[in-house]
Amino acid sequence: MSIEVNFDKYFDDLVQKSYDPFLQRAIVRARTAYWDRRNKNFPKLKYVEKWCEELRGIRRVAVDKILDYVKMAKDWMESRGIEVHWAKDAAEANKIIYDLFSSWGAKKVFKVKSIASEEIGMNEYLEERGIKAWETDVGAVILQLMHGKAMHPTGVSIAVAREVAKEYLSKFLGKDLPADPAVLTRATCDWVRKAVPEADAIFSGANAIVAETGEIWVMENEANGRLVLAQPKPYVCLAGIEKVYPTRYAALLYASIMPVYVTGAAAIDNITIIGGKSASNDIERVRVSPATGSDEIHVVFLDNGRTAMFKDPDFRIMLTCLKCGACLMDCPMWNTIAGYFGEHVYMGAFGIIWTAFTKSLEAAATQAYTCLLCGRCKDMCPMGIDLPRLIKRIRQKLVEKGITPQQLQVMAENIIKYGSPYGLA
Ligand code: SF4
Repeated sequence: MSIEVNFDKYFDDLVQKSYDPFLQRAIVRARTAYWDRRNKNFPKLKYVEKWCEELRGIRRVAVDKILDYVKMAKDWMESRGIEVHWAKDAAEANKIIYDLFSSWGAKKVFKVKSIASEEIGMNEYLEERGIKAWETDVGAVILQLMHGKAMHPTGVSIAVAREVAKEYLSKFLGKDLPADPAVLTRATCDWVRKAVPEADAIFSGANAIVAETGEIWVMENEANGRLVLAQPKPYVCLAGIEKVYPTRYAALLYASIMPVYVTGAAAIDNITIIGGKSASNDIERVRVSPATGSDEIHVVFLDNGRTAMFKDPDFRIMLTCLKCGACLMDCPMWNTIAGYFGEHVYMGAFGIIWTAFTKSLEAAATQAYTCLLCGRCKDMCPMGIDLPRLIKRIRQKLVEKGITPQQLQVMAENIIKYGSPYGLA
């Protein structure tokens, strides 16, 4: 699919965003809250850097065998009654998920937030076909009501100002709520508590899939994940193949470092581990499954550019990315335009590579030229990924395809002609 790259419109829009008082206020509040919490908690976690180093080593070795680990996880899952699917791209993933939900007659699905589902445009795909997929994370609900763009991979609405969130939530919940995060959160969570039991089916992403056990790990703070996943309804989990960890220990390292990098917190509030369909062995030790849990569990492993990433020696390292979003929090561009740093689901520096592989090189063009290549993201990354080097490679590929902003072409010509990017002036 060819995408037309309109640098001028994109950069004009960014200038507008940089003057948006609500966006600017929300960015400052989000950044301040993140750094205050992180600076308080980081020193308390005296092993966090050691855990990062250990996990980095495990992920870097495991990435070379990622397809073997996917196979190992699949075998375990199937032995425990979970059905496993493989989706080579977004279209295939959407079709598999839609076919499952419609085979169950589901019209209303409740979700635990999943960036992979945003990557494939799942909510929109299902809605066009008569199935409503409701979000249950507070931020994801706000974004769903706004039809907005995610601001961060794990905190999708953190740069949506409370004054804006108030408007959407008041309208949706039918009461005039104050622009107070505590009241808005309470009201949204009350709605989630009441609404989720009405689900015909349930859905989540996966924070981790453990190869040695086939377990699905879902991590969240609001307990909406626990609530959704406790429903005895047919369940679909969508997982990018980079979510596979070789061992429980590796998944635990990930769970231990994530909170402080994601929100600045010292620990995660909830981890739900699903190892298979529920079962009871209580009558004469005869195993009966399912028990109280879902009658059907399906896992869809998503490729959508990931095996291409795996095959490219320059970019394979990106499969170690945790999608924690820490690289955004010290990024001068994210701190000016938040999630508008990029036109697609994956924003910011890490998102340039993910957009190039899960969407297309052209789709990543404006984002790649938004980056200042300052290198702060590299210093923030718990996996030590050299994002500036990868972004330069993306730019090199764009140049090879003749995709560069016109201003840069003029500067390059000026350098050749006059020895200065500014020409004779
Ligand atoms: S590149 Fe590093 S900091 Fe950024 S999302 Fe990935 S793991 Fe996190």
